[in-house]
Amino acid sequence: MVQGGRAAGLDFGEDAVTLGTGDAAVLATPPWESQRLLPHLETPAGYAPIVNLHYARPGPRAGALHRHAGCALPMGAGAAGGVSVTVSAGDDAAREDQATLGPRAWAELRQAALAFGLDGDWPEAPPPCRVVKERRATPRHTPGPPLRPPRLPLANLALAGDWTDPLLPATIEASVRSGEAAAKALLR
Ligand SMILES: Cc1cc2nc3c(=O)[nH]c(=O)nc-3n(C[C@H](O)[C@H](O)[C@H](O)COP(=O)(O)OP(=O)(O)OC[C@H]3O[C@@H](n4cnc5c(N)ncnc54)[C@H](O)[C@@H]3O)c2cc1C
Repeated sequence: MVQGGRAAGLDFGEDAVTLGTGDAAVLATPPWESQRLLPHLETPAGYAPIVNLHYARPGPRAGALHRHAGCALPMGAGAAGGVSVTVSAGDDAAREDQATLGPRAWAELRQAALAFGLDGDWPEAPPPCRVVKERRATPRHTPGPPLRPPRLPLANLALAGDWTDPLLPATIEASVRSGEAAAKALLR
């Protein structure tokens, strides 16, 4: 709830908090949610997907492998181990059907694993695979000046979140830096 250029209350649906004159808040929701709450806020024009593929590959932990489109992290240990592939900016992978994506990515992964001599079994037949598509994983980075949303859109409300850091790409580090900047702005 906004009154007189200040956040006057926080509505969590089942719960609500009234903010007093000395109270402040940090809004660290995703950009589209921040814009829903503050409609005049400028937010990223588009988002890039990240696709994760989790293969039930039996065998020991084998190390880590990086490839041009993402990284593969063998995980777990012993017979229950698996291997996960992360494809950042995965527009093509996000469009592709799991039925073809799983086997195609496995073939690429297997080729690289064998070339690097990674431990474990890398059968030609793709193991069972679970695909998770995060369609709005990160703001899409485009040429031109970065978005600079106001740190204090309201006198007692600071914005945080990876997308509000003007210097770093949308990462955990950017979100931590933005949180620190938000706290400092409110304490000033
Ligand atoms: C698949 C994937 C892999 C990634 N891998 C890496 C990596 O390897 N390294 C790296 O640095 N970064 C990685 N990232 C990016 C990293 O996860 C983000 O940059 C970081 O989590 C952003 O943190 P945040 O606090 O800004 O936002 P989020 O982590 O998105 O947090 C926003 C929070 O707001 C909550 N929320 C939403 N709406 C509301 C509401 N109305 N009211 C209250 N709360 C609400 C959400 O539940 C969520 O908890 C990855 C992201 C994805 C999707």
